[in-house]
Amino acid sequence: MNTLRIAGGQVLRPDATVEDADVLVDRDEGTILDIGADLDAEADETLDAEGCLVTPGLVNAHCHVAMTLLRGYADDKPLDAWLREDIWPAEGALTPEDVRVGAELGLVEMIKSGTTAFADMYFHVPEVADAVAEAGLRARLGHGVVTLGKDDEDARADIDESLDVAREFDGAADGRIRTAAMPHSLTTVAEEYLREFVADAHDEGIPVHYHANETTDEVDPIVDERGERPLSYAKDLGMLTDDDFLAHGVHVDDAEIDLLAEAGTGVVHCPASNMKLASGMAPVQKLLDAGVTVGLGTDGAASNNDLDMFDEMRDAAMLGKLAADDASAVAAPDVVRMATAGSADAIDLPGGALEVGGAADLAVVDLDAPHLTPANDLVSHLAYAARGSDVRHTVCDGRVLMRDREVLTLDEDAVMARAREAVASLRERV
Ligand SMILES: [Zn+2]
Repeated sequence: MNTLRIAGGQVLRPDATVEDADVLVDRDEGTILDIGADLDAEADETLDAEGCLVTPGLVNAHCHVAMTLLRGYADDKPLDAWLREDIWPAEGALTPEDVRVGAELGLVEMIKSGTTAFADMYFHVPEVADAVAEAGLRARLGHGVVTLGKDDEDARADIDESLDVAREFDGAADGRIRTAAMPHSLTTVAEEYLREFVADAHDEGIPVHYHANETTDEVDPIVDERGERPLSYAKDLGMLTDDDFLAHGVHVDDAEIDLLAEAGTGVVHCPASNMKLASGMAPVQKLLDAGVTVGLGTDGAASNNDLDMFDEMRDAAMLGKLAADDASAVAAPDVVRMATAGSADAIDLPGGALEVGGAADLAVVDLDAPHLTPANDLVSHLAYAARGSDVRHTVCDGRVLMRDREVLTLDEDAVMARAREAVASLRERV
């Protein structure tokens, strides 16, 4: 057996307690063999965690990873104008190679900020999958479908591509890649297509992921035209099952929250994107109180503008309190759980908790920094004070992806250079 030991640190357990312990990993199986203070087994490789907190790898449950190329490309506009005037024209010019390098850039950023798994909706999915295979993370990937403004032939081709990539890449990268069918939203895919698309996906056991209830501009037309709330419509379309998960859920009423809780559909909260696009405040404490599975995501880098899940935890806690008008709402342990086990549950990937027999997906956070001193409460520090740049080592599936801030699976400098070139060329074309 080939083993890895994360030695000398403190370990965050699933019940949000912290204990002095080593973590012993079976690298062949990618699982945690043991967690304890007096492990005597010799390991093949050791990661020094002295003065550090070992946490589950963070799980970014909603992203468009290649949008790193559009970071800072267009800011300070509402969602609809931002998509139509800036983002969609630029995305229309992206080549498969652009998406590959944008994905690699995002993956380097994730590894450097302790993220080990993510869900991604984009296009040129084969390139994203190749980048994930090389980078060593876990992912649930899918091709996003928009039928609005397309003729029947193009709409059906888009849906076929989404189903084809979901079939082809499920189980890729030694099982680290899973897939989903991904209609972009309830308003950008027409009902006739949605109904068939969702049924076809579910017939094959493929989950469905989509944006929902993100802005009032998206909710109101559904209410006006159909006389029902968006998630009631989603239920009627068959896309509110416990395998499915949706991003945002900002403007949900109490009846919709009950529908989500009954169905077991995961909601991925994206607080930075919701603030930046002025979309609104999701009722996160209400969702948690109702028993809804809530994960956390950055959304694309163009609406965030980074993929740092530590930022996202802080934003989720702050915005959650404001939304509830209650400083005790969305407390530190809640956001840490949302960014780990909540996200892993929502997107149904391994990880999200450090426990014997579980996936060896973890981040080692260096506590030796002024902004993390004194160590009054390490869960509070994770939620409110730590940054992605405090992560010292990142491990996924038992493999060390970053050691002492050096990314081992991708060439960080080369990826950044290729990203700069890709965007210079993109700007000339658009
Ligand atoms: Zn999104």
